[in-house]
Amino acid sequence: MDKISSLCKRRGFIFQSSEIYGGLANTWDYGPLGSELKRNVKNLWWRSVVQERMDMVGLDCAILMHPQVWKASGHVDSFTDPLVDCKECKNRFRADHLTSTDDPDIKLCSSCKSKIDLRLSAPRMFNLMMKTSVGAVEDAGSITYLRPETAQGIFVNFLNILDTTRKKLPFGVAQIGKAFRNEITPGNSTFRTREFEQMEIEYFVKPDEDEKWYKSWIEERFNWYLKYGIKKENLRIRPHQKDELAHYAKACSDIEYNFPFGWSELEGIANRGDFDLRQHEQFSGKEMLYFDSQENKKIRPHIIEPSGGVDRATLAFLIDAYHEEKVKDETRVVLKFSKELAPIKVAILPLLKNRPQLVGMAKDIAEGLMGEFPICYDDTAAIGKLYRRQDEVGTLYCVTVDVQSLEDQKVTVRDRDTMLQDRVEVSRLKEYLSDKLKSE
Ligand code: ATP
Repeated sequence: MDKISSLCKRRGFIFQSSEIYGGLANTWDYGPLGSELKRNVKNLWWRSVVQERMDMVGLDCAILMHPQVWKASGHVDSFTDPLVDCKECKNRFRADHLTSTDDPDIKLCSSCKSKIDLRLSAPRMFNLMMKTSVGAVEDAGSITYLRPETAQGIFVNFLNILDTTRKKLPFGVAQIGKAFRNEITPGNSTFRTREFEQMEIEYFVKPDEDEKWYKSWIEERFNWYLKYGIKKENLRIRPHQKDELAHYAKACSDIEYNFPFGWSELEGIANRGDFDLRQHEQFSGKEMLYFDSQENKKIRPHIIEPSGGVDRATLAFLIDAYHEEKVKDETRVVLKFSKELAPIKVAILPLLKNRPQLVGMAKDIAEGLMGEFPICYDDTAAIGKLYRRQDEVGTLYCVTVDVQSLEDQKVTVRDRDTMLQDRVEVSRLKEYLSDKLKSE
């Protein structure tokens, strides 16, 4: 994890937020390469769950919602974590994150390892929602929350979506957006933060078809991570035990990734029954039903919810891409991103930076490719170093312009993974790279 964190900072994937002011703890900014990578993660998700399916539509809701939403959803009353104080080091922890001992009442502090007796320091329930006030007057009526999940925006738009799209069951709605939780113990880089991004789906089904769709979504989402580069041995499905389930949920499974700090949740897939629509019906007074024309009656759909984190998926893809290889006597660090995820597809590099003709030709080539693929141009070091830099950020192909290129109008294209080189005519380069990026 240390190696990946330092690479992320050195090469512009992830920076600490507000760094020049000493940073804001556990808050991160995505740099030039990180923002491209994260955008690719979101686009691939959107493509697979919205654009490649007839039964799905997208939505993009406001972060601020009517405060009643959070009463109906249960977040005001029960979106809490158990908080304990360590009397020794004065840090605060989530009770369920402390290290267990043989005695169920005694836990070890995660920071100073001293014993915490839960009979003396009983956990207090701490609400994770971030409060804010809306408007010029700060009073009870102006209080709302930064949404702790994107899902509620989908539930409260259920009728709007039915009216405007005329979708028939089963159908789903997908949304990507920021969510905020005042986590007691954030940490492990971008894995657990107080501001993060979610990719959530609410899939509405006939009540007796819930189990079929629950299974189908687990499989679909598991395969998505494999398709874009997570190794099978680092991914698993963990069904929740009965005592882990929310009272309304029929079933829930986590897709977990083997992070350097242990197996942890990437995404949860829950069978939520009709809880959410029922709650909003009760609190809003609006009937949240669907007219089933086959059975000629109104029904309340049940819901399957695949809910993942953009930041956690991005981190897992980064970790799984990290490779160190021995090449001759040197160690080559390479991020082996899938073609779709790589932030830069092609780098254009002149062999000699002090030969204006070479530099000019390389820049012309770069300009010709710009707009076709995400590219970069670099002439700030010797070629060996330029290759190492591009390997380290996962660039798929390096195009090198050398002295010979001026005469034969050909360039060398080097493949990131095999390091094999092809000599390609400049006039054919765009087509050559398009084929490479499409195939395999
Ligand atoms: P955890 O048990 O790790 O706190 P959760 O079960 O509360 O997570 P959900 O409420 O199911 O998480 O949220 C759906 C997804 O949103 C998670 O699978 C995760 O990818 C992401 N997520 C949740 N909380 C955070 C956070 N604090 N930082 C980053 N991502 C998060």
